[in-house]
Amino acid sequence: MTPVNLKAATKVYCRLFFNHINPSPCTLCGKGESHSLCPDCLRLLARVTGPVCRCGLPHGDDATAVTDLTPPLCGRCIRQPPPFSASQSPLQYTFPVDALITRYKHRADLTVERAITPLLAETPLPWADTDAVCPLPVHWRRQWRRGFDQGTRLANLMGQYWQRPVLPVLVRQRPTPSQQGLTRRQRQRNLRKAFRCQRSVTGLRLILIDDVMTTGSSARAAAQCLIDHGAAEVRVWTLARTLDPR
Ligand SMILES: [Zn+2]
Ligand SMILES: [Zn+2]
Repeated sequence: MTPVNLKAATKVYCRLFFNHINPSPCTLCGKGESHSLCPDCLRLLARVTGPVCRCGLPHGDDATAVTDLTPPLCGRCIRQPPPFSASQSPLQYTFPVDALITRYKHRADLTVERAITPLLAETPLPWADTDAVCPLPVHWRRQWRRGFDQGTRLANLMGQYWQRPVLPVLVRQRPTPSQQGLTRRQRQRNLRKAFRCQRSVTGLRLILIDDVMTTGSSARAAAQCLIDHGAAEVRVWTLARTLDPR
């Protein structure tokens, strides 16, 4: 059970309340009273389109078909296949999505979540045989500082839209230092044994949910933990995907 930081949580919800009674103009076009992003600008956000690799990267020139039957994989997925079987993200992690997500999680600005709600609500369930969704958690100390956990909030929203139960079974065992600016190898070292699964998920087909997939190292570690605890299949859904993880 994650302890509640009343001070941080109060700050998050007070900010949301004051923005509600005193809305700010759209971050992008500066027009209207929009709570961070107006519906017109929401439609302009860069989407991830076309077929993607198992890691969620759109197929570029380096996509190689392993067999005629399997979808082509990127170079990294061939060298080091991820434990999850597919991933999907509606948005590209480029401007202004990167700025919005930074505002969402580092400045605890829930107006961003409210602005993207129409986009989330119209996102169809990507895999119909899914049994439940599972948030990719932050360490409780980070959640304590922020007053909320964006992975859990997104999982609760998507579980509601997709009509699937939310299983918060994963726990981050130790505070992984910020992954920003680290190489892939450093990220992997950071994440070894980072997660613990609180109960068996035997036979379940799960969607792991997070805000952003960058190199996919966290998703790999979390998916492996779920599979070690019996999950039949793990797929990953993130709000945004970094297209150039270098
Ligand atoms: Zn706008
Ligand atoms: Zn790949």
